[in-house]
Amino acid sequence: MERLWAPWRMTYIKEEPRPGCLFCRALNDPSDPDAELVVWRPEGGLVLLNKFPYNPGHVMVAPAAHKAGLEDLDSPESAALMSTLGRTISVLRQELKPEGFNVGANIGRVAGAGIPDHVHLHVVPRWNGDTNFMPVLSEVKVVNEHLVATAEKLRRAFAS
Ligand SMILES: [Zn+2]
Repeated sequence: MERLWAPWRMTYIKEEPRPGCLFCRALNDPSDPDAELVVWRPEGGLVLLNKFPYNPGHVMVAPAAHKAGLEDLDSPESAALMSTLGRTISVLRQELKPEGFNVGANIGRVAGAGIPDHVHLHVVPRWNGDTNFMPVLSEVKVVNEHLVATAEKLRRAFAS
């Protein structure tokens, strides 16, 4: 995937690593700050916004099971993940009107996985020219507000 200019990703480097697994925290503890990123909790999985997005609406789709690899999922878990992925693309298409998507998994730290122990799929909406009009945001707060607005919009769409 083409790497987009996303200066706020710098905060990723500065942020203190937190104990445990982001997906399991977001799934099991509604009071965890990362649970605010969750936009949908389907049976057997969850969909949450990436805190350091490459594009608006960049979400991660994960199975509820804390398993490292796609090959570790049993058939019902794989089927649930694909069906969650399908609905996610459909909701993003309806709400954000992207012209395309990148869908993929970084498996293993060497491949860029930030959370290598809990497999997840990245879904990045794409627009023509999005590498050019990406706003240069230096304030993390601005990005957070944007994320909250996006999260609310998507939560409503998933619930409908
Ligand atoms: Zn986990």
